[in-house]
Amino acid sequence: MAQLQLEIVTPDRLVLSEPVEYVGAPGYEGEFGILPGHIPFLSALQVGNLYYKSGGKTFFVFVAGGFAEVSDNKVTILAEVAEKATEIDVERARKARERAEQRLAKQQENIDNARVQAALARAMARVSCRSRAKDAGTCEM
Ligand code: ATP
Repeated sequence: MAQLQLEIVTPDRLVLSEPVEYVGAPGYEGEFGILPGHIPFLSALQVGNLYYKSGGKTFFVFVAGGFAEVSDNKVTILAEVAEKATEIDVERARKARERAEQRLAKQQENIDNARVQAALARAMARVSCRSRAKDAGTCEM
């Protein structure tokens, strides 16, 4: 079966480099899917969950925005922050979500709303990344 090479890179590390069969990514204008043989393509990403199929299983990765580039059966994801579902500390993400929700509920004047909304979006995407991976049987933790 034709394959794609998926690489996910952050400024700190190479998160993943693997041959895969399909990539679904949270594009800025909605989710998009990449199969082998796709034409060259570039898209900005939203905070959300990327997933890929390999060996009949679906794996999930949290990405905090960034860019996706497709060229010559290679998908390169450049993100400021990314974590495989198995790397996500769910307790930490739940606490981050609670902190953000409490800040928003207080409606203080000195609150940086955009920053709190962004933190909330990251926390919610991390929690959902873990739960989707669990449902798919690719994160047993
Ligand atoms: P927190 O408020 O818990 O720090 P955050 O969304 O502000 O969360 P980021 O700025 O997105 O954190 O990430 C900072 C670093 O911490 C990155 O290296 C990221 O991979 C890591 N990180 C943040 N939250 C988690 C988590 N729940 N599980 C694993 N790693 C995390």
